[in-house]
Amino acid sequence: MKQLSIILIMLILTSCKSEAQQEKDNSKEFKVQKTEQEWKAELTDEQFQILRKAGTERPYSSPLNDIKQAGTFVCAACGNELYETKHKFDSGTGWPSFDRAIDSSLAYSSDRKLGYERSELLCGDCGGHLGHIFDDGPRETTGKRHCINGAALQFIPKEKS
Ligand SMILES: [Zn+2]
Repeated sequence: MKQLSIILIMLILTSCKSEAQQEKDNSKEFKVQKTEQEWKAELTDEQFQILRKAGTERPYSSPLNDIKQAGTFVCAACGNELYETKHKFDSGTGWPSFDRAIDSSLAYSSDRKLGYERSELLCGDCGGHLGHIFDDGPRETTGKRHCINGAALQFIPKEKS
C-alpha cells in the first residue's frame, strides 16, 4: 500500500511537471503585452502591418536606409534598444541591414512564408516582427545579415558631447 501511494505521488508529480512545461512552450511570454486593439491605436498602419502582422515594407522605402550617424535603433512599438549604427552596413537590398543586434535584445522564430524556412527576428520585449536573419552578411565581421523593416525601428541619434 505504501509503495502504491509512492507510485501515485510520483505519477502526480510527473504529470504536473509536464503540464507546466507544455504551458511554458505554448505561450511566448514577452514583457510588453498589449491587445491587438491597443497596438492598432498606438502604431501607424504600416507599423502595425509589419510589427504585429509580420508584413514587409517596400524595399528602399525606409528613410532609415540612409542613416550613417551614430545612434541607436529602438523598437518602434516598445522602445527596446535593438541595433546600433556602428553595426549597420549597406547590403544593397533596400532594407536597413545590420551584422549584429544589441546583446539579448531579440527573440527568434521561424516562418515558411516563402516556401522555405527563414529565421524570423522579433523584438525580445514585445514580440514585434522586425525582419529576418540570413547567413550572407559581411564575412569580415559576423557573416550575418539582419534584414530589418525600417518601419519597425525608430532612430535615436547619439547626443553630441
Ligand atoms: Zn518591441
